[in-house]
Amino acid sequence: MCFCAQIKMVMTSAFAPSEPSLVASAQELPAVDVAIVGAGIVGLSLACALRNSGLAIALIEATPYRRENTKGQAYALHQVSRYFFEEIGVWDKLMPHVQPFEVVQLSDERFPLMVNFSPADLGTEAIGYVGEHAAIAETLQSVVQSASNVTFYCPWRVVTNEVQGDRAQLTLISGDPTQPKVAHLAARLVVAAEGGKSPLRQQMGIEPKGWKYPQSCVVATLEVAHPQPVIAYERFWPTGPMGVLPLPQNRYRVVWTLPHPEAEAVAALDDRSFLATLQPYLDPQMAEITAVSDRFVFPAQFMQVNSYAADRFVVIGDAAHRCHPVGGQGLNLGLRDVWNLAQQILATPLEEIGDRRHLMQFHRQRWWQNVLTLAFTDFLNRLFSNTWWPLVAVRRCGLWLLRTVSPLKRLVLRFMAGLLLPLPTDCQFPRGR
Ligand SMILES: Cc1cc2nc3c(=O)[nH]c(=O)nc-3n(C[C@H](O)[C@H](O)[C@H](O)COP(=O)(O)OP(=O)(O)OC[C@H]3O[C@@H](n4cnc5c(N)ncnc54)[C@H](O)[C@@H]3O)c2cc1C
Repeated sequence: MCFCAQIKMVMTSAFAPSEPSLVASAQELPAVDVAIVGAGIVGLSLACALRNSGLAIALIEATPYRRENTKGQAYALHQVSRYFFEEIGVWDKLMPHVQPFEVVQLSDERFPLMVNFSPADLGTEAIGYVGEHAAIAETLQSVVQSASNVTFYCPWRVVTNEVQGDRAQLTLISGDPTQPKVAHLAARLVVAAEGGKSPLRQQMGIEPKGWKYPQSCVVATLEVAHPQPVIAYERFWPTGPMGVLPLPQNRYRVVWTLPHPEAEAVAALDDRSFLATLQPYLDPQMAEITAVSDRFVFPAQFMQVNSYAADRFVVIGDAAHRCHPVGGQGLNLGLRDVWNLAQQILATPLEEIGDRRHLMQFHRQRWWQNVLTLAFTDFLNRLFSNTWWPLVAVRRCGLWLLRTVSPLKRLVLRFMAGLLLPLPTDCQFPRGR
């Protein structure tokens, strides 16, 4: 289904923007206060947070949304993300599509001491929720569609961003091959929510710092025969962590970290061989697997930008940081970026939106908060993807401590759920419909 086709948007295409006739006939799009580049979950969430705010918003996406292109991606959403979606008034629309989970089970290979985190450790009704990309994106798109102050430009790709006085000037090329077009759009502030590659980030001189892991994640969705306990598993194997997330309708999403060559080899197996290889690593309760989806491979990476802000420009979500999928943090951090940024935009006088002073404040806030979580995911991956016996002994003592010292267990869980850091709650979001 092409959801984009149903919603308010400006349809138009790919060509070389340097082609003189097209550049000369460039269309001037109505100027906006905030231009959001990229309509992944992070960009869509920012558009939702700013809907009905009175600000003119452009949401620009290069690729029309298609459910089959989402690779079945699913995300563990932590409590902090639920609070954010509640604040912006979309949680009630998302809730029917997400799977709450009440137990997170942590285990180290086949070591018998497992740690079970429960909602009582957090004082909440669920530890977290698993949402499929398709369900979240479609819900947020329908909210954006109903917002009179948001114009959705799709398929349009932003190719350049230049600051001219008190405005940023974007150049866009349209993605409709039958109608090659170029357009300009002026904005007080450009928000790059373009995902990991973020061409605009490079243009604006913002540098990503980090490394690639020697590991990739093989992801697949499993269907099981009978209803299972709604448990999310984080199982650590010497090759890397394996996350198993419960989905609605007796399904599980497996995120299995392996060294690159093994990941490629496992992903290329046929269904039967793949399941036979995977099964020994799963919880024995998941015995009757009836179907498995296609497999996809994602290389794991650690990255944070040196600065979240430049002149009239900020980066958020995967454009600003990427981490190992262990603990399911990436999107949750991106949503925290959105929460902080939206709060700041709404609290800023119109003529000061995009002002460097405010953007640097956003940078300082997000950089240190995100680096703590990014570092923790790196620590977990290194600690557990290891067979050196002193480390094995240390981490098993750690599991024992987590099992026996309740305050420590609660502290770790609150940190992973994003609840230890201050929440930006002193902001009233205009909710609208
Ligand atoms: C295997 C795996 C498992 C994961 N599991 C979890 C999890 O359980 N929980 C969690 O919180 N996170 C998880 N993550 C991380 C999560 O996937 C990402 O953090 C999140 O999807 C990033 O969203 P985004 O909107 O920032 O970027 P993207 O989803 O990459 O969206 C960027 C959008 O921008 C568009 N775009 C790019 N450039 C331009 C341009 N120049 N002009 C116009 N449009 C443009 C792209 O087409 C795209 O639609 C996981 C990641 C992996 C790899």
